[in-house]
Amino acid sequence: MGLNDSSPGAMRNGRGLSDQWADSVVVRPRTTERHITVHKRLVLGFALSIVTLIIVTAVAVVLSIRFEDCGERRGAAGEAGPRGSGRSNGSRGDRTGERGDEEAVQPWRNSRLPGSVRPRHYDLRISVYMDNFTFSGEVSVELECLNATRFIVLHADRLEVDRVSVTAEGAGGRPANRPGGGVMRIHRHFPFPANQMYVVALHRELKPMRVYRLNMSFDAAIEDELLGFFRSAYSLQRERRFLAVTQFSPIHARKAFPCFDEPVYKATFSLTLRHDPQYLSLSNMPVDASSLSDEDGWVTNRFARTPRMSTYYLAWAVCNFTYRETQTDGGVTIRLYARPDAISSGAGDYALHITKRLLGFYEDYFKVQYSLPKLDLLAVPKHPYAAMENWGLSVFVEQKILLDAEVSSSSYQMELTMVVVHEICHQWFGDLVTPVWWEDVWLKEGFAHFFEYVGTDFLFPKWNMEKQRFLTDVLHEVMLLDGLSSSHPISQEVEQATDIDRVFDWIAYKKGAALIRMLANVMGQPLFQKGLNDYLLSHMYGNAARDDLWSKLSQAMRSEGRDINIGEMMDRWTLQMGYPVVTISKNQSEQRPTHYITITQKHFLYGEEARKNLSLQWQIPLTVAVGNESSVCVEHLIWINNRTETHRIGQMDDNTWLLGNINQTGYFRVNYDLQNWKLLIQQLHSSPQIISVGNRAGLIDDSFNLARAGYLPQGVPLQLIGYLPEETSFLPWHAASRALYQLDKLLDRTDEYRLFSDYVLKQVASRYHQMGWPSNSAGTEGSVLQASYQTEELQRELIMLACSFGNKQCHRQAVAYISDWISSNKNRIPPNIRDIVYCTGVSLMDEDVWEFIWMKFHSTNAVSEKKILLEALTCSDNTFLLNRLLNLSLSSDLVPEQDVIDVIIHVGRNPQGRNLAWKYFREKWDILNARYGEALFMNSKLIGGVTEFLNTEKELYELKEFIQSSGVGAGPALPRALEIVEGNVRWHRLHRRQFYQWLRKPPSLG
Ligand SMILES: [Zn+2]
Repeated sequence: MGLNDSSPGAMRNGRGLSDQWADSVVVRPRTTERHITVHKRLVLGFALSIVTLIIVTAVAVVLSIRFEDCGERRGAAGEAGPRGSGRSNGSRGDRTGERGDEEAVQPWRNSRLPGSVRPRHYDLRISVYMDNFTFSGEVSVELECLNATRFIVLHADRLEVDRVSVTAEGAGGRPANRPGGGVMRIHRHFPFPANQMYVVALHRELKPMRVYRLNMSFDAAIEDELLGFFRSAYSLQRERRFLAVTQFSPIHARKAFPCFDEPVYKATFSLTLRHDPQYLSLSNMPVDASSLSDEDGWVTNRFARTPRMSTYYLAWAVCNFTYRETQTDGGVTIRLYARPDAISSGAGDYALHITKRLLGFYEDYFKVQYSLPKLDLLAVPKHPYAAMENWGLSVFVEQKILLDAEVSSSSYQMELTMVVVHEICHQWFGDLVTPVWWEDVWLKEGFAHFFEYVGTDFLFPKWNMEKQRFLTDVLHEVMLLDGLSSSHPISQEVEQATDIDRVFDWIAYKKGAALIRMLANVMGQPLFQKGLNDYLLSHMYGNAARDDLWSKLSQAMRSEGRDINIGEMMDRWTLQMGYPVVTISKNQSEQRPTHYITITQKHFLYGEEARKNLSLQWQIPLTVAVGNESSVCVEHLIWINNRTETHRIGQMDDNTWLLGNINQTGYFRVNYDLQNWKLLIQQLHSSPQIISVGNRAGLIDDSFNLARAGYLPQGVPLQLIGYLPEETSFLPWHAASRALYQLDKLLDRTDEYRLFSDYVLKQVASRYHQMGWPSNSAGTEGSVLQASYQTEELQRELIMLACSFGNKQCHRQAVAYISDWISSNKNRIPPNIRDIVYCTGVSLMDEDVWEFIWMKFHSTNAVSEKKILLEALTCSDNTFLLNRLLNLSLSSDLVPEQDVIDVIIHVGRNPQGRNLAWKYFREKWDILNARYGEALFMNSKLIGGVTEFLNTEKELYELKEFIQSSGVGAGPALPRALEIVEGNVRWHRLHRRQFYQWLRKPPSLG
């Protein structure tokens, strides 16, 4: 029944619908019944049928009048939200003895479902017509009434509903022909498009604790867009083939069948698909029974009944793919379905292999078995996201799951691996236990993102993802966004359907993952794992809110005698936007100055004006180490709760430095007094290894960002990276190159740019020459990757820096590789650096090379290769070619739909293409917005990507003008873009002079 998803009395976040359900099953005296009884007595008393007729007619007239004028009364009655309406109806009904308060409320006018009924089981039959891209369906929903109501309100969008009927199942589950059972008369049924709802208004009320059946039939189109039940095409031996697949998350199941399309309405599903036998069909569960029609030869596949689940990860597909399969030791069948040519070339084998290992990993880690008998991975040519975690039928865009070992780089393989790890994690976090509502979407996305790193470490321990790559790719990345005043808390209130897509942003994914990692480090791995295990077990097949998680984690801590109120601590991080900058300084007071440090916390923001009225504070788990030339002292964990605190730390003298946030496990920045920065920089120059790899990367990222925001002089980060020639690890180089590319885009159109690029090249040169270029080892990636991933990545990073900042030797090498390819028609470029070589070649060489790459882009079948060839085309200096590429990508189907956005963004990254991309974006905004508007994630990626490097007053003015003329409907992406561009312009105004001054005369270390 599911009413006890959450333990009653447990603290919830105020919108736990399950609590409301628990309240609402209390049976209350229903006034309507009394009302009718009174009438019956009257009727019997007079014993005149003619009177009955008059009374019945009168009641009907009164009711219909009341019904019609509900609209006018909405102002007053509409005050009661969907949560409160059930309860207040009861008490008001008692007083007035009137029927129809609910009509006045018009529950379909609320953006959330009213919660008076809930689905228990769906029988769904869909007939799919691939010849004209339509489908028709019948759904029969078993409903349980929780609150007496005359209305069944559910979701439906773009569906042509024709027949609707409601029957009562009979008291106590007895058949419908018993007392209380039978057909319910429908007053009327109608769509309410504003909330994507469908309303069935009955003559009589549904009664609490009784079961009803709602039957609806409907028709709809299989649209050529990436939502609901949609179609896409691919070619197989020059023949165009079609497939149709679903994407329901977050709110598009309602485009495929009428349903209660909110995650808390979990139910079981029995799906039947009927289609032309040339296709096969897939769904969450295996096929239970399959039959061929004698009449038309069509297939009918009946899929096994699902466990309790939400609508958004229900899925089905109709295609003519083939597959390869494997089995886990526990007997779960895993299949990978893809285009027949991809399957026969073995491009799916890698994903299949790691999925098998991952199911075992998660079962061990979570100590909860995978719930379904099978797991299908479906590789589709077109998809709005990288992948979607449908339970038992996860869908991936081809570039995130197919791997051609011969030509794929290790970064492509890494990205693909992480997408698979992410989706498999969701089979537990998201599918088995589902967030109550979208405000806590980070509960599933943050976990899946965090586990991308933990799970990948399991597959490839040498990659060291969680300790290293996590820092640059997650922590540093999201702190850029979350340091803006246009950021938002990770738990954000959403009500309107149109806002729900908005919660799937980097804050939910990356900040969620960073906070979970911080918490895991505070708790320690065994307790964290124990807490997660309890959480999953107590909420499996149900829903949970963040407080449910906090309480399980606190319980795990208490079981070991550690009394930390995790909910109280984490609320500061999840309900407040942004993060703090912690400043650590040696105590300047005269008394016992050597033992004490002063620690302050402030909200970190890039914009100085925005910092004026700050009041946010956090509970910060700060680790501090004290060190000098030869050693580092024990780390201390200090909880910082106040704005300023003084702590005793141990023996220090003038030459000891302080280092905060050890291994960057915390979600905050650390600043120091200038003397301490100087000591840290000296340490890095003399013997960097004393400071951990994670902290070296952290110092680089913190110093660049503190300087960018004006907390530090511009020279500090520049001086700090002067140690890089001594740096032998990949991660600090990666952190530095990320910061340097940011600066590069700010500076690449300034007169003194050479000062900057020369400085970068000076740092890169020695290590670049030492590492050299990789030897061509195509075909042996798998083994090389395992053994020397860190070395390969460092080599790649150095080549990229050298080539993009203008190292002549690097340019010559790239040109030589391209010339060799053209003359021999053999691609001997090592896969790991192909993107760098292609891009460098296109930018330095003539138009023929562009044409050559364009031709290769068309002829290759390897998805990874296709993507980097396409991106290389954006590297040209020739604006005519760039323009041609932009036009071709949007107006023809030569470029896959989801790659069009990348083309525009990459053209914008090219200094020669920046104006062009910016102009093109504005001109084509209407088309782009129409195409990607509903998938807000892509839209905001596009807006961010095209605008983030604008940095002149003129460009800022153009952006403001554009926002005014067409900013409607783009969500938070435009305000964010505006803040970033304002920040860029401000940096030029306030800091550029100081920056170049330092470069002209860098002071020597002393
Ligand atoms: Zn996800």
